[in-house]
Amino acid sequence: MRIVIAMMKHETNTFSPIATDWQRYKDWGVYFGEDAQNAYENTGMPMAAYIDLAKEIGAEIITPLAAEAMPSGPVTGEAYAIMSDAICHAVADGCDAALLDLHGAMVSEETDDGEGTLLERIRGIAPDLPIAVTCDLHCNLTQKMVDNCTVLIGYKSYPHVDMYEVGKKIGKVLLDSLSGKFHPVMAWQQIPLLSQTLCQGTDDEPMKSLIELCREKEKNPKILAATIFGGFALADIKDSGTSVIIVTDGDKQLAEKTSREISWLAWEAREKFIYRPKPLKEAIQDAKAQTNFPVLLLDHEDNCGSGGTQDVMMVIKEVIDQGLEDVAVAAVYDPLAVQEMIKAGVGKEITLAIGGRFDMPSVMLKGKPLTLTGTVRTVTDGRWTVHGPMYTGVEVSMGPTAVFDTGKVQIVVVSFHHEPWDTGVFTSVGIQPEHKKFLLLKTRIHFRAGFAPIGKATIHCDGEGVTTSDNNLLHYKKVRKPIYPLDKGVNF
Ligand SMILES: [Zn+2]
Repeated sequence: MRIVIAMMKHETNTFSPIATDWQRYKDWGVYFGEDAQNAYENTGMPMAAYIDLAKEIGAEIITPLAAEAMPSGPVTGEAYAIMSDAICHAVADGCDAALLDLHGAMVSEETDDGEGTLLERIRGIAPDLPIAVTCDLHCNLTQKMVDNCTVLIGYKSYPHVDMYEVGKKIGKVLLDSLSGKFHPVMAWQQIPLLSQTLCQGTDDEPMKSLIELCREKEKNPKILAATIFGGFALADIKDSGTSVIIVTDGDKQLAEKTSREISWLAWEAREKFIYRPKPLKEAIQDAKAQTNFPVLLLDHEDNCGSGGTQDVMMVIKEVIDQGLEDVAVAAVYDPLAVQEMIKAGVGKEITLAIGGRFDMPSVMLKGKPLTLTGTVRTVTDGRWTVHGPMYTGVEVSMGPTAVFDTGKVQIVVVSFHHEPWDTGVFTSVGIQPEHKKFLLLKTRIHFRAGFAPIGKATIHCDGEGVTTSDNNLLHYKKVRKPIYPLDKGVNF
């Protein structure tokens, strides 16, 4: 038996000014053939689970591609073609099944439905090919995706710490169905809800109960997989938003009924999926009043993990203006500032303009650098291996990296976008985060994977950026209407 196993991922923020070209994929890591297997085997990713399953049954493993890029604007036609060609050529060479590790919110220059278009093309080559797909919790599910695979499942955790487990579950369902043990059928439901990712943490309501309900449903041996997708509202495409998909063993009615039930509960909780902003000044005042440290300050409107430029200095400026001390910041994207620090050398004091390199026309913001005087503390190549619970075992790269120290605030400045979900973002540059008073993190929910165990309090800091949680700042043109909360009187 020959099994094609591949990973092709991107979460596309259509409001982001950052281009997602092939180089951006290379920055994170692109692997073909055996290199793809070597890079992701024994990690916490769905791809690793697929490889383990294929090995268990002694199948021949074909890994044409493993590619991911940090979230950003639409994927270029060139990058999309390289990735989908690699997978499609492997399928065309002949295989008995495909196990795909996708995201579900990829938009390219040519298609708003990156995954659906790929799956449709695969099915065009091999119409009866059994295909299993894992998607991120932030998948914007489409009819085309559902129509062109056999089984599909999403992560049940945000931060995403169950990627391997989910890959194993759906991969096993598919392989068991090859021997006739199961006859999978799917039903799905789109909810007219643009939920904020900031309100989708699975330790918080309403996602906590909705995920528990999915797990409860999966205890029924007829229900092979039950998924609720929070969706990714920062994509202005027709199918943006929350959805549910159920895989059952041959029982379409049960799939439909279960899908409707979970969807209805998500719809009833819709208000809790919307973030209520708070003035930044007050948030930093709250931080000053804290007595248990470290306190986590979330600069969630500039989260590169959702397509943010990671160079908006507004929250950092407020922290400095209000005189907070013993602060570590992860991270600011500014390759030019890193080069200036490398040129100056470790231990040297310099005055430097940091951040503000990108304009953000979609939210009518100009890039505003912040000029600071401080000391270059550390310079590294930015490479380290994740030991925490998310992306466990994966070597990540922040590109050339330097720490700028104002005396009160230490800023990790990076050359590749990197969301701080793991303490390695600090320890790799010699900062011990548990000993700081304040950790200012450009993240939303993923920080919990590495930082929840050490953080004594968490404060949302509403700055600016293209990962705003305020829908009123975003100008949607393509999303289906009516949809909550953009429109009034939406029915479901
Ligand atoms: Zn996600």
